[in-house]
Amino acid sequence: MVTGGAGYIGAHTVLALKNSGYEVIVLDNLVHGHQDLVKNVLQVEMVVGDISDRSLLDNLLQTFNIDAVIHFSAYAYVGESMKEPAKYYQNNVAATLNLLEAMLGAGINKFIFSSTCAIYGVPDIVPIIEGHSQNPINPYGMTKLVVERILNDFDIAYNLKSVCFRYFNAAGADPEGRLGEDHNPETHLIPLVLFTALGIRESIRIFGSNYPTQDGTCVRDYIHVSDLADAHILGLEYLLKGGKSETFNLGNGNGFSVNEVIETAKKVTGKEIKVVKSGRRPGDPSILVGSATKAKNILGWQPQYSSLQDIISHAWQWHQKRHTSKPQLF
Ligand code: UDP
Repeated sequence: MVTGGAGYIGAHTVLALKNSGYEVIVLDNLVHGHQDLVKNVLQVEMVVGDISDRSLLDNLLQTFNIDAVIHFSAYAYVGESMKEPAKYYQNNVAATLNLLEAMLGAGINKFIFSSTCAIYGVPDIVPIIEGHSQNPINPYGMTKLVVERILNDFDIAYNLKSVCFRYFNAAGADPEGRLGEDHNPETHLIPLVLFTALGIRESIRIFGSNYPTQDGTCVRDYIHVSDLADAHILGLEYLLKGGKSETFNLGNGNGFSVNEVIETAKKVTGKEIKVVKSGRRPGDPSILVGSATKAKNILGWQPQYSSLQDIISHAWQWHQKRHTSKPQLF
């Protein structure tokens, strides 16, 4: 069962699961997910509902023969989490706890969890390794850290085996153009840059130009969403083979600055992209780059699309298709 399978990383993972021969059921409340993609592209069974609904969960887990749960459904806007932490703790922590208890009640003990590099806060050293101290600087990151701690305790007490994936900056789209990123509101750099190239935004704002980086703009580790999806298959296989609970960073180990992203997008799209320098965005560490050596060593994960050019090209292919038919203003 994939919760949040109608969302960005969830949908790409469902596609990868299908391609690997797994039978998948999606549970999604469609607050941010896209029913059209599940129906037309993924073509898997989807139940529209919420993980906070215990009787729905009990019913589902009894009806279907579920081996493992991959849990994507969560709120993921850092800025919103600062303004509405209760909403984040309720959905990302309390509802996840409900899901875990329902799983235990149904005798399911394999769980893959979408965590985030936001749990590290401002890193002391990059590339960040999994043992780095964890001091989130926003409620979003804290909700994910709390769930990681719950999972640790649940393993000891209830033998719940989990794999936590701490994503760096998920980006790109299915290389064949079937799926991609479609957040509303969109706040991420790469899609916003591409909206500017498409002409549905006037300009892209650069949040901060005086960071201690090579060109003064923030550096991030962009990781292709299809590579993230592949990691989930490996994580699932690892648990199905009896692997112990583990936590893995998923990133490329390469950092690209905001300026480099914009310059690459200009090359990929062949369009002018108007840039406006703006102040720093609160809560942005200057550099976030992860080491994924552990995922490579233990799971055998090997990212296929680690060039920024590939990541942006695939995203561009998707956004041209998705947004030319429904222009929106952001
Ligand atoms: N960013 C920017 N302009 C935007 C959106 C993002 O300069 O309109 C910067 C942001 O400050 C960060 C980087 O781009 O340094 C990546 O931001 P994004 O929101 O994509 O991901 P995050 O790193 O926050 O998860």
